[in-house]
Amino acid sequence: MSLLQERASRERLLAAAAATAAACRACVIGSERRNNVYGEGDPCARLMVVGEGPGETEDLLGRPFVGRAGQLLDKMLAAIDLAREDVYICNTVKCRPTSPGPRGPKNRAPELEEMANCRPFLDQQIDIVRPSVIAALGAPAAKSFLGRDFQITKMRGRWNEGPLGIPLIATFHPAYVLRQTGGELDAVKRLVWADLKAIRTRLDEIAAAGGALAPDAPEQASLFAE
Ligand code: SF4
Repeated sequence: MSLLQERASRERLLAAAAATAAACRACVIGSERRNNVYGEGDPCARLMVVGEGPGETEDLLGRPFVGRAGQLLDKMLAAIDLAREDVYICNTVKCRPTSPGPRGPKNRAPELEEMANCRPFLDQQIDIVRPSVIAALGAPAAKSFLGRDFQITKMRGRWNEGPLGIPLIATFHPAYVLRQTGGELDAVKRLVWADLKAIRTRLDEIAAAGGALAPDAPEQASLFAE
């Protein structure tokens, strides 16, 4: 099967799975959300990015990582010479988790039961895309793969064995980076940049070993601009 045929086949599989997810009401949030946010990107991506769940903008548009955090994610990817279109982006839950707020529903982290309900959709995405590397963004996404004892501040930046034996690394969620200021922001950006470089190196190593084609490596290392 040619690469084009393979891509088309995976696109069909992902579209069918997305339609199933769109009809899912296994959680209460499935009936509260405006749009199901299944995921998007290259069905043959070497990197899969998994966040915790859709926020307000994502819920509105039905696309993952399109708010401010999404814009920062795009910059983070660009810092290691990856275009958003070359990556597959999704979340642990496909519906926006919310709790009541004074000005309407506000974002919250997904509950364990919601992530468990939605896990078959995520596993199916991983199985179809078969990325070389998975990046879990934020503690909830990392915990969904690595267990509830995972501590993002202590255990980010390390390689773990993810689903299907795929190398998995956790780093801070872009939304967390955006909430930092001053020296804290600089410190978090340095850590995220180290994790991004680790991802880039791993992708290059896998490509060099014949696992996949890699685009050119970044010519100069620099902190991504938030
Ligand atoms: S979060 Fe996932 S499992 Fe829960 S209702 Fe939405 S699609 Fe279904």
